Amino acid sequence: MPKFSRQDHLTRLHSIALKLEPDFKKLKIKNIGDLLWHFPNRYEDLSQIKKISELKENELISLKVKIDSLKSYRSWRKKIFITQLSASDSSGKIQASWFGQKFISQTLKIGDEIYLSGKAQKKGNIWTFTSPNYEKVKYNPLHSARLVPIYPLSGQISQKQLRFLMDRALQLTPPLADRLPAEIIKAENFPDINSSLQEIHFPQNEEKLASATARLKFQELFYLQCKYQLAKKQYQSLPSYSLSLNQELLNKILQQLPFVLTLDQQKALYDILADIRQNKPMNRLLEGDVGSGKTIVAFLAAFNTVSLGHQATLMAPTEILARQHFDNTLKILPAKFRREIALYTRSQILSGQNKKLSKKEINEKIKNRKINFVIGTHSLIQEAVAFDKLALVIIDEQHRFGVRQRKALKEKNLNKKVPHLLSMTATPIPRTLALTLYGDLDISLIKTKPAGRQKIKTFLVPEEKRVAAYDFLRQKIQTGGQAFVICPLIEDSDKLGLKSVKKEYKKLNQTVFPDLEIRMLHGKLKAQEKEKIMTDFKAGKFPILVASSVVEVGVDIPQASLMLIESAERFGLSQLHQFRGRIGRNNQESFCLLFTSDNSQLNKERLKALVKNDDGFELAQIDLELRGSGEIFGHKQSGLIKLKIARLTDLELIKKAQNWAKKVLANKKYLEQDNFQKIIRQLKQEMHLE
Ligand code: ADP
Ligand code: MG
Repeated sequence: MPKFSRQDHLTRLHSIALKLEPDFKKLKIKNIGDLLWHFPNRYEDLSQIKKISELKENELISLKVKIDSLKSYRSWRKKIFITQLSASDSSGKIQASWFGQKFISQTLKIGDEIYLSGKAQKKGNIWTFTSPNYEKVKYNPLHSARLVPIYPLSGQISQKQLRFLMDRALQLTPPLADRLPAEIIKAENFPDINSSLQEIHFPQNEEKLASATARLKFQELFYLQCKYQLAKKQYQSLPSYSLSLNQELLNKILQQLPFVLTLDQQKALYDILADIRQNKPMNRLLEGDVGSGKTIVAFLAAFNTVSLGHQATLMAPTEILARQHFDNTLKILPAKFRREIALYTRSQILSGQNKKLSKKEINEKIKNRKINFVIGTHSLIQEAVAFDKLALVIIDEQHRFGVRQRKALKEKNLNKKVPHLLSMTATPIPRTLALTLYGDLDISLIKTKPAGRQKIKTFLVPEEKRVAAYDFLRQKIQTGGQAFVICPLIEDSDKLGLKSVKKEYKKLNQTVFPDLEIRMLHGKLKAQEKEKIMTDFKAGKFPILVASSVVEVGVDIPQASLMLIESAERFGLSQLHQFRGRIGRNNQESFCLLFTSDNSQLNKERLKALVKNDDGFELAQIDLELRGSGEIFGHKQSGLIKLKIARLTDLELIKKAQNWAKKVLANKKYLEQDNFQKIIRQLKQEMHLE
């Protein structure tokens, strides 16, 4: 008979939960229900029950034996409590001993049938176990003779206590009503929720464990996808601007560009223009590897918007990048629009005619629709900027911004209308993964890079070849090349022996290339200094730039063809690929040299992947498999989704979950089911809280 409800406090389960309460809190387990959703992170296979006659040295097995004798005593010298027993099955005898565990002699007695699990050693003629798992034989053993769950723990909690409490929770709570629509369970051949929970904790066999795991993972992903679909529906029910196509303007600009758009760029542009024609807000992610040419696509959409008398804004993660976008806009956009453009960053507010503006002036002009395309940084959301008719928001390198920052920009309109949103990212996310991360977005993909780009030749250089590498750089510089040297730190720190911008700068300047002009760039410099350095580097005024990760995103220096990355182990593969994307942007042969002091296998494997592989999407996938999602997307992104059991690498299940979510939410038959309605209510509540 069920004795407890899932809402009951954990301490009601058993008195041992009382003293462990603070430790359970750390695991976010307060009530019995929380406990049931605390899943093992692995299992120890003790399911093989052997006869004593079959024992092999150091093999992990279980035995089913009867206790023949049992004694406890204190060791003579160290006064440690020792429990010793001998036991037998029909095929032989064994001995087992435990140290310092007095209670064993109180729980076991002669004649008891027990399971023993562990590894045996042969001492003389006798098989002995030291501190094996033991458990009285009963219908459903928890710690031995089975696939034994191993849980994430905290503080004083032991595996045994956790299993004991879990077993009680499973036995003594009423069965759950299955909320997953019955059609899904049937079609996917999933076990029901109650046996899934039983099996995930105490599996009968590998097979049942696998289907329970699949069901619970699916469920988690399915709810997540439902949430995305609901959010999308809600978002699309808000009013936005319908922006028609200014074919004439776009043609004019396209004709003047020094290149033609690639097919993927054209497709992406078409997707966007089709979206913004509708009066429901676009929410589209433009995904493309570094250098694939996302910017021009976004610009064209922005120019189209501005030419119709509406407003657009572009937010970039760094001042350097904002400035670059601003300069490029001025180059491409017909002169008559120049008055309508402005740059808005913390340290620089400029009109399209290159005039300095005060905050007050620019805010006025934006409100009065004198300025209609504002390019800027975080400042755009921090300051009191308010638009009169903001129809398009573009976020460059969106993975560098948090959800709140993106949202804040969307709410910059004085009226109630919601602007169209275009996010761009060069963190190349495998498409199915994008579905999990951004399931509520539409996605345009720029896969092919502009023609003529060469593969960047990448090398992992051993320390003993450093001198040769510098010689190589020198050679290339003598024939007009320019080089980035990237370091993970700005200042030297004692930590970890990582290279810093300042120290490398000093070394290169004083001893390696005393005859060459070297400058440094990092986030602590003033915006004007940074900008001057970038402009000079772009103009080819000096050959070597030592930089921190500020050059990671976006910056475009077409003639730089050399890059040397120090302490490469400190960066994720996607990030390294981004760095590397700074060079090789025109048609000359480009080289990227990687140095690392971390000789671990994992690191080597990662860096070799970078050497071999040129495709940002594949690199992201490799990084994901080698290092997990948090490393790729940084905390801002990985914090977005907290998955309990599913993994971002469960691609098949993710697809399945998305298909079902779409199908179910579009169909009254499902929507009207009681259980499912409960879920929708719950998901909506969660959305509201987020
Ligand atoms: P990203 O996608 O990394 O933001 P950018 O938009 O900065 O890339 O483009 C990289 C470079 O490629 C820029 O110098 C841009 O002018 C150029 N570019 C963009 N599209 C094309 C194209 N179709 N053909 C040739 N060059 C292009
Ligand atoms: Mg870019």
